[in-house]
Amino acid sequence: MIHGTFPTGQAPWRADLAAAVCDPEELLRALDLPEELLAPARRVHRLFPLRVPRPYLARIAPGDPHDPLLRQVLPLDLEEAVEPGYSRDPVGDLAAQAVPGVLHKYEGRALLTTTGACAIHCRYCFRRHFPYAKANAARDRWRPAIAHLAADRSIREVILSGGDPLTLGDDKLSDLVGALEELPHVKRLRLHTRVPVVIPNRVDEALLDWLGRTSLAVVVVLHVNHAREIDEAVAGACGRLRQAGVTLLNQAVLLAGVNDDAGALTDLSERLFEAGVLPYYLHMLDRVAGAAHFAVGEARAAGLLEALRARLPGYLVPRLVREEAGAAAKLPVLAVGAGVGCR
Ligand SMILES: *Cc1c(COP(=O)(O)O)cnc(C)c1O
Ligand code: SF4
Repeated sequence: MIHGTFPTGQAPWRADLAAAVCDPEELLRALDLPEELLAPARRVHRLFPLRVPRPYLARIAPGDPHDPLLRQVLPLDLEEAVEPGYSRDPVGDLAAQAVPGVLHKYEGRALLTTTGACAIHCRYCFRRHFPYAKANAARDRWRPAIAHLAADRSIREVILSGGDPLTLGDDKLSDLVGALEELPHVKRLRLHTRVPVVIPNRVDEALLDWLGRTSLAVVVVLHVNHAREIDEAVAGACGRLRQAGVTLLNQAVLLAGVNDDAGALTDLSERLFEAGVLPYYLHMLDRVAGAAHFAVGEARAAGLLEALRARLPGYLVPRLVREEAGAAAKLPVLAVGAGVGCR
């Protein structure tokens, strides 16, 4: 993960990006949190820096160290624990790079890591150790990536990921999308992003302009883990994306202490739907070093999903999946014993 300063320009979202809270002391003070959290936060912040945009900060309840939004961003001493089975590249991304910046693991879909930068740093992120500086298709490095996509006619969908592609400016993104539109076999453009959730004014006229004009079908997969992440500004951003013809989906990560109960997951699905977003995936945590305290076991996860099925219409139940290095797709996580035997 690259941390550093973002250039300040005219667009208000750039100011929000630049004004993110990156100092543990400032975060604790702003939220009226106990001082004993500071020393570990500072230590762990050196391994993977704190970054919280202010629109997201405003949704965190002050004075509650267990707030589910806070837990996603506050560096804790728990990240220093060394757990067997947790590694720096848990999903085999380094091995899957076809050319720098292109991850081509699944048939018909290729993923471009367009930037290493994110607007928010999520403590559970599987890319927290990823060497983006060497694996980055953006800037002047995306020509070889485009050449790879042009040469493989089986690719129907290009996924812009990162980092977070919406930390890039619209001039850069519309250039890239223009190059993709030239490839006759590419029909769909997908963006994996958390920016509209944490800095909703990123969805501005300049973004909507190129999204509305592209000849590709556009899918935006948001990343929301808890219902309280969607306030009116986020719902507004979702509405503008939908008006531009974008299909909106959500992927969440199942996280202990954040959303690992049936009530929280039900509320998340309901709130997503109100904002015009359908739940797509609920991911099992990737086993990345430093995130073991967020893990939820498979049996419990499958039980939570059963509870959701009992409470929600089928279209509001996300697919519970895990990623396995070398697999042909995300793998479904099923209840133990489900579908076995002659009934
Ligand atoms: C998750 C992922 C995709 C997308 O998978 P879908 O099941 O289509 O959402 C594509 N490429 C890579 C490398 C991925 O990790
Ligand atoms: S926004 Fe996505 S890629 Fe960036 S730190 Fe959070 S989970 Fe990871």
